[in-house]
Amino acid sequence: MSETPEPHPKDFARPALREHFAAEGWPKYRADQWAAWVYARGVSSYDEMTDWPVELRAEVAERWPLDVLAVEDVQVSSDGTRKARLRTADGHGIEAVLIPEAERTTLCVSTQVGCPLACSFCATGAMGFTRNLRTSEIVDQVCHMKAVAAPEAPITNVVFMGMGEPLLNRAAVEEAVHLLIDQKSFGIAPRRVTVSTAGVVPQIEPLLEAVPVSLAVSLHASRDSVRDLLVPLNKKFNLDELLSTLRSCPQITKRRPVFFEYTLIDGVNDSVEDARELIARVRGLPCKVNLIPMNAHADSPHGPPSEAVMDHFMGELSRAGVTVTLRRNRGADIDAACGQLAARDAA
Ligand code: SF4
Repeated sequence: MSETPEPHPKDFARPALREHFAAEGWPKYRADQWAAWVYARGVSSYDEMTDWPVELRAEVAERWPLDVLAVEDVQVSSDGTRKARLRTADGHGIEAVLIPEAERTTLCVSTQVGCPLACSFCATGAMGFTRNLRTSEIVDQVCHMKAVAAPEAPITNVVFMGMGEPLLNRAAVEEAVHLLIDQKSFGIAPRRVTVSTAGVVPQIEPLLEAVPVSLAVSLHASRDSVRDLLVPLNKKFNLDELLSTLRSCPQITKRRPVFFEYTLIDGVNDSVEDARELIARVRGLPCKVNLIPMNAHADSPHGPPSEAVMDHFMGELSRAGVTVTLRRNRGADIDAACGQLAARDAA
C-alpha cells in the first residue's frame, strides 16, 4: 500500500477547510468561496472561479489540483442509470452509480476499495478488501457524478450503498456527510442522505449521533441460520443483537424510520416462513422494508425468485402492516445494480 497522501481540501468539511486555508496564508473566507465554486456550482477548473484573482487561482491550483479521482468510463443503461468507473491516485478502481427516477435522482457512492464483509451474493464482497476510501475520494465521486447527471435531473439524494461497508470507514463517511448537507457546500437535505450498513452494531448509534442521516440496514434474512450464510458478519453480531440495537436508537423514529434492504434469493430466503419471521423481527420498530430481487452475477450461483413468489412474500408483509416496497433493479444491464459493483478491472 502506498504512503498516506497529503490532505486535500475535499477531505475536510468547511470549518476545518477554513483553518487549512489560514495555515497556507490565505483568508478563511476563500475556503467558503472554494466550497461554493467546487461543491455548489460544480466547477471543474480554477479558471472558472472568476471572483478570485488570477494569481491566487494559480497558487491554490498548484497546491491542490481539483480532481482527486480520474474518471475512466461512464456506462449508460437502457433505463437511464449511469455507472462511472473511477480510479484513485494509487491505481484502484471504484464505482459510483446514478439512478434517475421520476421525482429524484439518487447517487450511490462507494466507501471502500472492495469490502471485507464477503456477503455471499455480492460481487464487491468477492473482490476482497484493499483499503478504506478517504473523505476526498468519497466526495470526489459526488463532484464527478454531478457532471455526469443530466442537467434536467440533478442529484437530489445520496446513498452510501456502493462498494464497501460504510460503518467500517465511519470517520471518513461522517466528514463526507457534513459536506453533503452543508448548505454552503452540496446543500442536500439530510433526510435525502442514507448510510447503509450490513450490521456493524457498535458503530450504528455513534453514526446516528454524529450525523442526521437515514439508516439503511442490509438485512437479507430473518433467521440467523440463513443470515450467517448470506452476511457472514451475522456470526459476530446476530439478528437479536442488531434489532435490539436499532430499537434502542432514539434517532430512529416514525419520521426517520430505518430502511431494511432484503434481497430476495430463490429458494434461500423467500419462503412464507421467512416472511413471517421478518414480520415478527421488525414488529413495532419504525421501519420500511425494501425487497430487492437478487441480481444474477458471475460470482454467485444464486438468482431471483419468480414474480409470483416475490408478490407472495410482499403480500405477507403488507397484510401484517409492514411498509414494504418491491424495488425493481436498475442498471442491471451494465452491472450497476445492487450487489453487482466490482470494478472488474480494478488494479
Ligand atoms: S453487500 Fe455490502 S457489506 Fe456485503 S460484501 Fe457487498 S459491499 Fe460489502
